[in-house]
This record gives sequence, structure tokens and C-alpha cells, in this order.
Amino acid sequence: MASIFSKIISGEIPSTKVYEDAHTYAFLDIGPASRGHTLVVPKQEYPDIYSIPPDVLAAVMASVQRVATAISQSLHPDGLNIVQNNGAAAGQTVFHFHVHLIPRWDGDRAMLPWKTQQFEQDELSAIAASIRQHL
Ligand code: 5GP
Repeated sequence: MASIFSKIISGEIPSTKVYEDAHTYAFLDIGPASRGHTLVVPKQEYPDIYSIPPDVLAAVMASVQRVATAISQSLHPDGLNIVQNNGAAAGQTVFHFHVHLIPRWDGDRAMLPWKTQQFEQDELSAIAASIRQHL
């Protein structure tokens, strides 16, 4: 079954389009965290960062950079967050890979900073070794 974003790309579901090229589509988020919150998605459907082929990811990121620059030059935010959620535990609700562009203004509290944690150096070394084993 086509994802909600595939239905948006095909025009079956309306969207406020920002940008489109051969491989990607960008549109305003229906539940924006801030003014100009934009989603960039590949036209081909992949659920997450683990499944998207590198060349498709490269096309998405090229559009992310292009749209981010246009947001910066048009809306003049003080900053811009790029967010990409994978898995329900990370807040992903639409399982068609997408990148959030969230313009930020000083003091807007549109996104809260994460709480920092502390790990001992031997644990940090073990974490990094575990990750390295899969590269
Ligand atoms: P996620 O939580 O999966 O990273 O983000 C999904 C995003 O898609 C949410 O921010 C949500 O507001 C947005 N969204 C879900 N359905 C629609 C829709 O039909 N139209 C638009 N424009 N955005 C949508």
C-alpha cells in the first residue's frame, strides 16, 4: 500500500509544495513545529535510513541543502534544525523516509534540547568497539 507521502507525491492527497525534482519532493508539514517547517522526501518509498540506497539518500540531501538555503534566504530564521526520525521509539510516524527542515528563531522553544548523559571511558570504548564491528 502506498504511504501517505507517496499519495502526496502523486497528487492523490493535497500538499503545499515547496520544491520538486526527478527524485525528490518537498512540502510544508501539516503539523509544523515552526513557520516554514518543510519535509523533503524521496519519490521512491523507503521506510528509513537503513533501507534507503545511498544514491537516493544523496539526492534527498542535495534537495535538503537546496531547500534549507531557500528557507534561510526567504524566511531569515536565526537557525535551522535538520531532523530525521527512524523507528517509533525515535518519534517516526510515517514510514516513508523523510527529512524535517525546522526553521528556528531565538527563544522559540520549537524543539527542546536533549538531556545529556555521562558514561565512563571504558563504557564509551566498548560502545564504539561494538559499533565498529558492524562497519
Ligand atoms: P515523523 O514523526 O514520522 O518524523 O514525521 C512525520 C511528519 O509528517 C509529521 O511532522 C506530520 O505532521 C507530517 N504529516 C503527516 N501526515 C501529513 C500529511 O498528510 N500532510 C503533510 N503535509 N504532512 C503530514
